[in-house]
Amino acid sequence: MKKQTFRNKVVVVTGGASGIGLALCQKFGAMGAKIAMVDMDKDALTREQNLLAQRGITTMELVCDVTSQTQCRAAIDTIIHGFGGVDVLVNNAGITQRSAFVDTHISVYQKVMAVNFFGSLYCTKAAINSIIQRKGMIIVNESLAGVAPLYGRTGYSASKHALHGLFTSLRTEIRSTGAHVMIVAPGFIQTNLQTRALGGDGRITTRPQSRMGRQDTAAHAADLICRAAEQRKNLLVLTPVGKMAYWISRIAPVLYERIMARQLRSELI
Ligand code: NAD
Repeated sequence: MKKQTFRNKVVVVTGGASGIGLALCQKFGAMGAKIAMVDMDKDALTREQNLLAQRGITTMELVCDVTSQTQCRAAIDTIIHGFGGVDVLVNNAGITQRSAFVDTHISVYQKVMAVNFFGSLYCTKAAINSIIQRKGMIIVNESLAGVAPLYGRTGYSASKHALHGLFTSLRTEIRSTGAHVMIVAPGFIQTNLQTRALGGDGRITTRPQSRMGRQDTAAHAADLICRAAEQRKNLLVLTPVGKMAYWISRIAPVLYERIMARQLRSELI
């Protein structure tokens, strides 16, 4: 199959002001794409957009809280108006939660679903016609928690499983149009995600995070995601521990539950 190129393509990245999203803006920008950075953090967005522009990358910044359908629609309309359309939509904006189910308020589930699931749904709904018209691609930054359980993160895992169901099903609907969906399931990547994790009461948790294996950098993750996007892969699992976890969870799901819970149990004690 011919390799997809991104020169002069319009790439929209939600959560583009930090972590993996920012690294993707930098990488796709270096590949010649026009970058629309979507984020609710106005200061970080302006700072990072200026840095990209200084490197000669064509960029647009859109302050947008993805939990608002109106703001998502307006952001995508502005991008289509300014850049002519959307070739790649990276649904990446996300938050996490670390707390036992019994201690977690329903409002935390609602908040995590609003950002991770509904944010991606709203942006995709607004951009889908343009993506289909341009035989483009949707990249969904899911998680291993989208394809396997994750201890102490029932809300996060539920939101990522919901994304998995939505976007693998959508892929079957749009495949014949030439448009594509690629799911990314990162293992642990060094970003601000965990420092902003919600506790059971909805405030930022102070509990330390346990992790399995070494964390990868956002820049390296972005390199691998862009390479997989060039090949229009269906699924990309990142980090050595992530890949191992993925296969154990597929072959021996109960064994996986036991090992994973043992590794992460100390977080909630
Ligand atoms: P990060 O916190 O560094 O970046 C997330 C970005 O999303 C931030 O810029 C934040 O401002 C933005 N954001 C949050 N809520 C928003 C909202 N309502 N509207 C608009 N923007 C919003 O974290 P990251 O690790 O780079 O996370 C990116 C994605 O990667 C997330 O979906 C996360 O679930 C996924 N992921 C991360 C890891 C990891 O280990 N870091 C592992 C698996 C999956």
